[in-house]
Amino acid sequence: MQNLISTALETLKCITDLIFPDLCAGCGKKEKTFCEDCKRGIEEVDPYRSCPLCGRFTGRSIICGECLGEKRNYSRGFFLYYYTTPIKNAIYAFKFDGKKRVGRILVQMANERIMGLRNRFDYLLPVPVTERRLKERGFNQAYIIAKEISRIISVPVLSNTVIKLKETKDQYTLDRTERAKNVKGVFALVEKDHLKDKNILVVDDLFTTGYTVMEVVKTLRSAQPKDVCIFAIARAL
Ligand SMILES: [Zn+2]
Ligand SMILES: [Zn+2]
Repeated sequence: MQNLISTALETLKCITDLIFPDLCAGCGKKEKTFCEDCKRGIEEVDPYRSCPLCGRFTGRSIICGECLGEKRNYSRGFFLYYYTTPIKNAIYAFKFDGKKRVGRILVQMANERIMGLRNRFDYLLPVPVTERRLKERGFNQAYIIAKEISRIISVPVLSNTVIKLKETKDQYTLDRTERAKNVKGVFALVEKDHLKDKNILVVDDLFTTGYTVMEVVKTLRSAQPKDVCIFAIARAL
């Protein structure tokens, strides 16, 4: 019954999208997914002018002081945009209004940069959400992003390799120390045989302190991957 209802809701959503097409995901104006004003407002993360681990603007590609202090447990970070208004609103629409199309478009807009990730990874691993969150939201936003990247660079997505065991508080509501504690031990590795000596890209929607994604990377360690990098649509300022 539950399934039937969610299928019906999904269908209704598709119909609504047809009747009320394209609103700008940045400002809600009745235009394409991003109106020209919002498009201009989008700030891309330039890998040649930012920290290769956290995407912080540094003017050139050098590891920032914070990353040196944090001891990042992955070898490289890939970020598409800074988390400023148009992108912030778009991610909100994607995650909380269920606009999966917006999530896909955020990836597609960076098609060329995504293509640069070709031949580099064996697997894409979306940061998991709990069963409960999956039921509430109907989808895992990181999985939608990973699927879209996968479509572009033909790398398989691992959806059940790491699971999230319990719900965490939203990281932005916490201070730095609480954030690290909040995510500690919340992920578990359930399948690991296929990861040995592989290159893995862990995928998420938003990078803030990196504690969540680093906790996922930590979970992968016992599987002995060759290299782990991380990816996020947006990098919080
Ligand atoms: Zn707009
Ligand atoms: Zn950094």
